[in-house]
Order: sequence, then C-alpha cells, then structure tokens
Amino acid sequence: MTTINASIITIGDELLIGQTIDTNSAFIAQELNKTGIWVHRRVAVGDVYADIRLALDEEGSRSDIIIITGGLGPTADDITKPLLCEYFGGKLVVNEKVLAHVKHLFEKVFRRPGPILERNLKQAEVPDVCTVLHNARGTAPGMLFKKDGKIFISLPGVPHEMKGLMTNEVIPRLQEAFTMPAVVHQTAFTAGQGESQIAELLKDFEPALPPHIKLAYLPNYGMVKLRLTSRGENKEETEKELAPYFDRLQELVKDFLVTNKDETLEQVVGHLLKMKGKTLATAESCTGGYIAHLITSIPGSSAYFNGTVVSYANTIKENVLGVKHDTLETAGAVSEETVLQMAKGALELMNTDYALATSGIMGPDGGTPEKPVGTVWIAAVTKERTETLQLHLRFDRQRNIMLTANAALNFLRRFILANS
Ligand code: AMP
Ligand code: MG
Repeated sequence: MTTINASIITIGDELLIGQTIDTNSAFIAQELNKTGIWVHRRVAVGDVYADIRLALDEEGSRSDIIIITGGLGPTADDITKPLLCEYFGGKLVVNEKVLAHVKHLFEKVFRRPGPILERNLKQAEVPDVCTVLHNARGTAPGMLFKKDGKIFISLPGVPHEMKGLMTNEVIPRLQEAFTMPAVVHQTAFTAGQGESQIAELLKDFEPALPPHIKLAYLPNYGMVKLRLTSRGENKEETEKELAPYFDRLQELVKDFLVTNKDETLEQVVGHLLKMKGKTLATAESCTGGYIAHLITSIPGSSAYFNGTVVSYANTIKENVLGVKHDTLETAGAVSEETVLQMAKGALELMNTDYALATSGIMGPDGGTPEKPVGTVWIAAVTKERTETLQLHLRFDRQRNIMLTANAALNFLRRFILANS
C-alpha cells in the first residue's frame, strides 16, 4: 500500500508569536487524514519571503501534497500570491470569474458604501499557471499548482474560508488525483481514570495488535479518548477487521467507558436525559455557569435542560436556593451539606427530575488548611435519592473549573444510570 504524504505550511507572523493559535493545520490534518492522506510534516513560517520559499522547496521535496494557508489578504504583509506566482513561473492576470465574485460580495453581501478599493479588486488577480479554487465565503481565491508531479494548494488564512475551500474544492480534487488507502477510526471515551490506569488495563491488548492497527491515548480534562486506527485497501474490509479489536477494547475498559462514539460528555448526558424523557437543573458556585454552558452548547438541549442558578455569593445560595443560613455558618459554602441543599433547592425551584450542584475552591486564593485550593463538592439529586462526591484538584483555576465540570457531568451520568 503506497502512502500519500502531505505537508501543511501555515504562514503568518501572528502564528509565530503565539497571538493566533494555528487551528488551520488541525482542521486540514483531520480532513486529509479522513481521506487516507498521511500528514507527515507541519511547518509554520512568518510573512518573510525567503522563509516561505525555503519551506516550499523543503516540503515540495518531501511530500506529494503541500497545503499552504495564509498571506492572501489585501494588506502589505500578505505576500503569498506574488511569491507563488514567481515560484511557479507565471504572471498575475485578472480572472473575470473571481472579479465578478469580489464585486458581488462587496455590493450585495458586505454592502459596503462607496467604491470598491483597488486593493480589494486586486484579489481577483491570480497567477496564470494555477487552477483557481472558488472561495464562496470570501474574496481571496484558492490556487492549485502542479510541479514535478506534486500538488501545491494555497488557501486563505481565515479559518471559515479555508474550511469551505477544503471541503468543497480541495478534498474532491485530491480524491480524484490519487488512489487512497482506506483509513478507519474507532473511538471510545473513558472518564474518571488517568491515562496510566487505563494503559494498565490495556497492557496485554496493545502489544497484541497487528502492526497496521494503532492505539492512541488522548487525555483531556479527566477523560481519556482511546482511538483505534487501521489502514487497508478497502474500507468495508478494514472496518470488519477492526470491529473485534474495538469490541475487546471496550470490554477491557468497561467500568470507565462513557461512550463508544466520538462525542462529548455533555452530548452523552443529553442523549441519556432525552431518551428517558427526564429534565435537569444545575446550581453552580465554583463552575460559574460553565456546566450550563456545556449543556446548552448541544442543539436541542431545551428538551431536557431547564436552567441554572449561578449561586456564587452565599446570599444567592441562601435566598434563591434555600440553603440554610446555619449550614453556611457552620459547615461553610464548600461542604457536603451546602452542595446537597443547593441541588435540592435547584430541583424544587426549577421543578426538574434531576439536579446537579457544584461548590469548591478553584484558586489561586481562598484555600485554608482544612479546605485547601482544589477542594470541591458535587451533588446529584432526585426527589428520592441523593449522592455526593468530593474532589481534590491540584491545578490552576481554569483547569480546575474544566475538570470539575467534566467530573460533575460524569458523576451525573453514573447517577442517572444507577437510578434506572
Ligand atoms: P491572512 O490570510 O494571512 O490574511 O490571514 C487572515 C486571518 O486568518 C488572520 O486573522 C489570521 O490571524 C487568521 N489565520 C491565518 N492563519 C491561521 C491559522 N493557521 N490558524 C488560524 N487562523 C489563522
Ligand atoms: Mg497574514
């Protein structure tokens, strides 16, 4: 099986100084990978003529496909287009189709008053040695060049435009130009155990895999994503061959398995509630509404999520959720008693089947010897049942919040499953 190799070159000073995070490479790599193209190099360079040329030389000598993003804007720092024109030995000419598209965007879509600027009209100039790739979402077209049997593709840096071009123009053309191997992924998520503990469970499984099947561990905020990848000539056969390995993997991690699809914890909890026709409310102190944000980022969540109370101050815990003044005085805001009363208060206030509450010390200040930073209490309740969980986290504020949210969602998931 021949491997088709690709390189990604991202261009922009902002990428090198860390002002803009290079999300383009991640998207492009994922799309190429799904198609069976192996991304073996990713390079970032500044808006510097010599550096871009060197990257083109180097990646052109190593890969079959070279995807370039950035530097196609209308400002002076954007030098990719004239550079590519020179590199591939062409000259810039106005492309009438692109010109009509640029005019259409300015007049009908952006509705800018006044005449179109010369620098915007220049977007319609393209090297006469490239195939123009239509950018439906913006003014800078994509460009495809061929040299010594290699394909070079230049795309705008704006992520939204780059994505449209990748999906609609680039992938179909690459599928036509190359015979691809089939790449099949199967993904499972575990929660509540670290990467090392999961690896212990898989210590005999992994070495016994055939060489073309790979296992990847991707830990993320208290969850571990386990991905099996296989490559073969034919998609159906590759899937069929992978299936028993994936079954075995799920069996080995079953106590911690959250899902056998590539989906988030909030999606899993959402499915579960929807399937059971049950509703949820949250009461969030230390997570400040983040759990509600995760839940409501899933389309259709209004079917099962009623709302949250961000009860950050004790007065809100007391006056809105009905936590007893006495409890706050004696046990404190971060305690099992308080978090339980918060959950019960939310359940009653929002009239739901389930309620989930969090209270903790996220840092960097606010810790005491008895309750150090990272002390968290979580409660899940129904009318009949209650359960609590204590966490001891040890990270910075941001990570502590995200870990608490994931731990709480997973706790709720287990609580719902145990309840049925
Ligand atoms: P450019 O095509 O270089 O004018 O870039 C246009 C916009 O896209 C700028 O706001 C860049 O910060 C952004 N951008 C460029 N390259 C990337 C990248 N690799 N990942 C994410 N955003 C990018
Ligand atoms: Mg730029």
